[in-house]
Amino acid sequence: MALEQWHCTVCNKDFKTGEWACADGVTNHIVEVKEYLLDDAPTDGSSSESLRDGRTLICNIPPERKAMHGDEVRIIPGGCVEFVRGRYSTSDPEIQHYLNRKGGFCTEDRWNAVWLSQNQQMQIERDRLTALSQRLENEKNELLALQKKEKAKQPVGVRG
Ligand SMILES: [Zn+2]
Repeated sequence: MALEQWHCTVCNKDFKTGEWACADGVTNHIVEVKEYLLDDAPTDGSSSESLRDGRTLICNIPPERKAMHGDEVRIIPGGCVEFVRGRYSTSDPEIQHYLNRKGGFCTEDRWNAVWLSQNQQMQIERDRLTALSQRLENEKNELLALQKKEKAKQPVGVRG
C-alpha cells in the first residue's frame, strides 16, 4: 500500500500517519472529506424502498489502545463508525486511516446497483443520457459558431 500523505485544512500542515493531533494538541487534524461506500444492502428479494434503509456499525475504528496514566495502564476504548445506507464520510484522518486499512469498500456504480431500486437506477440512467445529449448539442453549437467565425474572416471577393 502506498504511504499515506496527509494535509490538514485547518493548520495547513503536512503530517504523517499517527500524528493525528492538530495545533491545539487535543483534536485531530481535519483533512479533505472522503466518502466510503459499502455494498451491504439488505437483500430480501423485494424492491421495496423501505427495506433499503440499512445501517451498519463498524467498530474498532479507531481501535482501542493502551495509554500510560501515571503508573497505570489505561485502556482507551476504540470508536465506532456508522454507515447509513452503505455510506459514511469523514474528514478525520485517523478514522480515514483505519478505514483505508480495513478496505472492502465498493465503487459508486456498485453502490448504485445494490442500494437503489430499479426505478431509481433507471432515473440515473435517464439523467446520464439527458446530460450526454445536452453536451453533444452544446458541442454542435460551438462548432457551428466557430464555422461562422471562420467564414466571416475570409476576405470579400476572393474565392477559395
Ligand atoms: Zn491540523
